Amino acid sequence: MRLNFLQTICLVFSLTPQLFAQTPPERPKLIVGIVVDQMRYDYLYRYQSKYGPGGFKRLLGEGFSCANTLYNYVPTYTGPGHAAIYTGATPALNGIIGNDWYDRSWGRSRYVTTDTTVRPVGTDDTRAGRHSPRSLLSTTITDELRLSNNMRSKVVGVCIKDRGSILPAGHIPNASYWFDDKTGNWITSSYYPDSLGLPQWVQDFNARRLPDLYLSRPWDKALPEPYAESFNPGWDKYDDGKYLPMSLVPENFPYDLPTHKQKLGYGLLRFTPGGNAFTVDFALEVLDKMELGQDEYPDMLCLSFSGPDYCGHQFGIHAEETQDMYLRLDGQITRLLRALDEKYGKNNVLVFLTADHGGSETPLHLQDLNIPAGVFPESTIAGPLNKALVEKCGRPGKYVLDVANQQIWLDHAALDAADFDLEDACEVLKTWLRNQPGVYDAYTPEDIFELPEDYPYGPEIRRGLHPRRSGDVLFQLDPAWHADDKYFGSGGATHGSPYPYDAHVPLIWYGWKIPAGETFAPVSITDIAPTLAAMLRIMRPNGSTGSIIQQVVR
Ligand SMILES: [Zn+2]
Repeated sequence: MRLNFLQTICLVFSLTPQLFAQTPPERPKLIVGIVVDQMRYDYLYRYQSKYGPGGFKRLLGEGFSCANTLYNYVPTYTGPGHAAIYTGATPALNGIIGNDWYDRSWGRSRYVTTDTTVRPVGTDDTRAGRHSPRSLLSTTITDELRLSNNMRSKVVGVCIKDRGSILPAGHIPNASYWFDDKTGNWITSSYYPDSLGLPQWVQDFNARRLPDLYLSRPWDKALPEPYAESFNPGWDKYDDGKYLPMSLVPENFPYDLPTHKQKLGYGLLRFTPGGNAFTVDFALEVLDKMELGQDEYPDMLCLSFSGPDYCGHQFGIHAEETQDMYLRLDGQITRLLRALDEKYGKNNVLVFLTADHGGSETPLHLQDLNIPAGVFPESTIAGPLNKALVEKCGRPGKYVLDVANQQIWLDHAALDAADFDLEDACEVLKTWLRNQPGVYDAYTPEDIFELPEDYPYGPEIRRGLHPRRSGDVLFQLDPAWHADDKYFGSGGATHGSPYPYDAHVPLIWYGWKIPAGETFAPVSITDIAPTLAAMLRIMRPNGSTGSIIQQVVR
């Protein structure tokens, strides 16, 4: 059939509205970054038979899964993880070498986001409120988005944990909110635009006292049937992490939250599924009250769920509690995606979901199964290390300043005064460490740059090293060993290593211009930020070392 000119014009115009309806806009109205704290890659599948259709399964079915996404540095902790996702850089450049480290300029150990120059806003608790992103040394994708259009894009961070909100939101966000255990409120600090006080809508939200509601009911299993995917019965002997005082009372489902709250206060919310629900409650309020996604400039909500990390630490990766946490989180993700559909439409919102690190097996459990594993007593080694130094140099003194995250910081002035060469002191520490069970190897930063190319996890170890911040000696443990003896010596689980259980995380893209699909091509966690930059046609963050994931960029 041949159409004349008039017929062709009519046909084109009759199709045009449909074409417009189906074509995503040039830029998304909103980007929602979801970070699930301590989510291992296998949780997408291990619990799948009990997930609903609208959460993780929907993301996997309609979105694009980068199924081979790994952390490309050590240590795999929450602060460095959130920083790497959003800066596209590793600790070597973004400076976030841990959740805590010895700060030589402060002369003491520091927490990653502590900033004594700012005031708490929304609480009088200085420990909870004096935080900022000032320790982060490179820009985030959220910074670049704001810089790209004269600050017209809005950026907001929301997370129960301060560092999970602050680091993603970057240096110049519109707001960053986190949770205060003392008041049960969302709070911020004077670093942010709300320096004069919480906006009225945040005060109104806090006045609803939702934490009281979430902690007024026991925590029972979401589903009545046994959780065959978890280790039960018999897991009780392995769930004794020392993270939660609740564990002092041996207990199982249903957990009597109202009674525990009387002793533990609002901090209890962190460990329970209500914390994730409360995070979504507030995120939806942010979208509404801060009017995100309402104009031609893409806005960004950085959302991070802390509950799975607290729970995984306390109970371990095979606990029914951990499974229940994920089943209920699946419900919260369902709720979030539905709300985004209704408010913006799927084609207008770009979502990515990933994790800040994975999680280990419980060493005690592996040992009982005859699989090599162990806990290195890091919290007790400062004394013996110092003793070894004193014996070598022959002069008493306190040479070890701090031991944390498998790193040792030495007092250079004290070594000088004792006429003890730093290099010789480091040799003493390395020899001592290499003779301990579970220690794979020990190094100075200089050694690390001389490791042979095929040294196991050599590049990951190098990328975790910051020239001004890292310790004088660092050590790695064997697979399935961890160094958090203080909290998880007798049970529970942790993370921090370069090994797959800590490094392999989900990465799913969904919504705006994202094709359904999956790739097993290697992806690094630092690829997320450059990929977002490519999608938005803006510059990638200034320390970014990642690559663009070609399959998801249109
Ligand atoms: Zn953790």
